[in-house]
Amino acid sequence: MTTHSLLDLPPLSAARFASIEDRVARLLDTRQDVLVMQGEALLPLEGAIRATAGPGTTALNVITGPYGQTFGNWLRDCGATVIDLAVPFHTAVTAAAVRQAFADHPEIDFVSLVHAEAATGNTNPVAEIGEAVREQGALFYLDAVASVGAEPVLPDAWGVDLCVIGAQKAMGGPAGVSAVSVSERAWARMAANPGAPRRSYLSLLDWKERWIDGGRKALLHAPAQLEMLALEECVERIEAAGLETVIARHRAAAAATRAGALALGGGLEPYVHDAAEAAPVATTLRTPAGVVAAEVVAEALAEEPGLPLAAGGGALAAEMIRVNHYGPDAEPKVVDACLAALGAVLARRGLAVDPAGARRAAAESAR
Ligand SMILES: *Cc1c(COP(=O)(O)O)cnc(C)c1O
Repeated sequence: MTTHSLLDLPPLSAARFASIEDRVARLLDTRQDVLVMQGEALLPLEGAIRATAGPGTTALNVITGPYGQTFGNWLRDCGATVIDLAVPFHTAVTAAAVRQAFADHPEIDFVSLVHAEAATGNTNPVAEIGEAVREQGALFYLDAVASVGAEPVLPDAWGVDLCVIGAQKAMGGPAGVSAVSVSERAWARMAANPGAPRRSYLSLLDWKERWIDGGRKALLHAPAQLEMLALEECVERIEAAGLETVIARHRAAAAATRAGALALGGGLEPYVHDAAEAAPVATTLRTPAGVVAAEVVAEALAEEPGLPLAAGGGALAAEMIRVNHYGPDAEPKVVDACLAALGAVLARRGLAVDPAGARRAAAESAR
């Protein structure tokens, strides 16, 4: 009989599952309940909205990229009144804009926000916004999928009631499991919501009642074992390196990409104007007029298929290049390779580029 390392594993125990949850909780420095969810991050993202929002909810939905759009759709589907606060993709939302929305609509009792957007390359000041949300007394829902591992994510310190993470970006882990930290306030909101999913795969309350309240002794269904083991390994790797070190690697990659792109020339510009509002997880670049970003990316990838380059989604495909320097790609050599490949494509189009200058600027940004 042949043995298969991925197939011949002993079953994953409830105790092991609980210990993985505890490690994720430590990573977030939270004392809230942390649930590991058996699906990609969209599972807890949708589950948390459906659990806490209903016809009585007035939600402030901050849109700094495509995910905010999705959250607004779920909120409306739940019957919530939704006030969209859309922010141009080249910038971040400010706490002042959030406070203004509260002043205009004192009835707001829910806020949904994406921390960092891999799709648009911006990051929002969650700590400051959290203060405003606390004063308003609203429930605070945060998508931290693209920030965890790339910058601090501190649900307790920031007053986040529902903080969703996934492992597939800066954590360098699997995509098929995710986690959400849930505050007591959020549990109370769910318990009082007749529309919250119950006896459903989307249900957070099922896990509260049958897993957490039961002392985490029995799982609701067979755990996604391979993904759970991969999550455990990925958290172990972050613990071994030190979360600070992993975060520093991402910050350095973002700074190098930004500085390198500016020095490269060829009309490339950082898409997010202010460096302080640029996400450490991924750097977005604007192509000059007449140069289609998706074509540049396709040409670069045809030569070097492994590079973490992508064009922006939808209409952004014309003008946005994404350098996804996260996880194992948050490394100077990957950044250099991306800049070199983009430089080569732009040079072939007759644009003036300085690849050596780009390399130098990227290296110097790390000092
Ligand atoms: C990547 C990401 C997710 C997860 O979605 P995928 O499309 O499956 O990668 C959720 N939220 C944000 C902000 C993300 O960047």
